[in-house]
Amino acid sequence: MITLKNGSTIGKATVIVDIVPKGNVEIRPAYSMKPTQIAIHNTGNSGRGANAKAHNTYIHNMANLSPKDTGYASWHLSVDDKNIYQHIPFNETAWHTGDGSGVGSGNMTAIGIEICENVDMKDYHQAEENAIALAVLLMKEFNVPIDKVRPHQSFSGKYCPRVILKRDGSFDKFKSRIKSAYGSEKPSSSASKPSPKPQTQTSKKGDTKTTSIVDYLKSINVDSSLENRKKLAKENGIVGYTGTVAQNNNLLEKLRSGASKTIVSKPKSKPKESSKSNPKKTVINGIKTIGEIEIIGVSSSAIIMDVPNRNLARNIGTVPKGEKKPITGSVKGKNNDKGYWEVVHKGERAYISGQFGKLVK
Ligand SMILES: [Zn+2]
Repeated sequence: MITLKNGSTIGKATVIVDIVPKGNVEIRPAYSMKPTQIAIHNTGNSGRGANAKAHNTYIHNMANLSPKDTGYASWHLSVDDKNIYQHIPFNETAWHTGDGSGVGSGNMTAIGIEICENVDMKDYHQAEENAIALAVLLMKEFNVPIDKVRPHQSFSGKYCPRVILKRDGSFDKFKSRIKSAYGSEKPSSSASKPSPKPQTQTSKKGDTKTTSIVDYLKSINVDSSLENRKKLAKENGIVGYTGTVAQNNNLLEKLRSGASKTIVSKPKSKPKESSKSNPKKTVINGIKTIGEIEIIGVSSSAIIMDVPNRNLARNIGTVPKGEKKPITGSVKGKNNDKGYWEVVHKGERAYISGQFGKLVK
């Protein structure tokens, strides 16, 4: 099954399959995927009208923009009390777990379900029930065990699905609800299908000895063409990839570390505040800034990340070399000896690797 059946009913929701076009790889990367996990999200958007249909419109709008005007953000399904929209086929990856593009990452292995939380929804409980029915159907279709139905939080540390986590204190109750829905459902035709033959390929970690990125990608059945390596490099924060030995080694290391990564909670970042009054201080959207950095040390642009950790971050934009960005203070990340600048990007806190910024005022 590549898509749900358009017009069918799941829970009490009517399914609408409306796949976004290919073109913008930050929305529809079109990497092939054999789903082994399901990631549960809340949209984080409680605004009036932010229902499944609105999220479908939003993701289509993003898919039609150029990557320079979007960030890496996409998911397979949006669910509310009345509808389930499918935006991305199940045999393709999407960017929703914030844990990079390593082999075992959620982005590369999980189907992403966003549960809407708009305040004007008539029956939020029904939206969750629809998502549970959907998860059960997908578990049966793709032989996903209950322990692989996971909150977004377990992939990257992000507090998501926030409505569920806040109400229940953890993901356990929701998981039990899925479990009992799974148990109480009559075996479906898809569940009684023989399970797919186990793959005889090398382990998920791939070839652990080779020093060749091409051999490594082949060992995990990933397209090793220059074109695809360019995509992977971009997603892993390697700017201006041309396939040099150094870049290939860097990419190999990043992909391997992603494959065996353990879950790290999101580092907390507190902006440094000088106690003296400082004329350079301004406030942007409620965030105090203490000065600016200029982008240096990159060939074209520096990547802007949502968390100060390049292994876990989602790339949310770029800043061209020479341009300036307001900063709140420097954050020392664990995996970058130059740390990360905390900047203000589109009115929100965001992060740029320390070596790409020079304090200018
Ligand atoms: Zn999420």
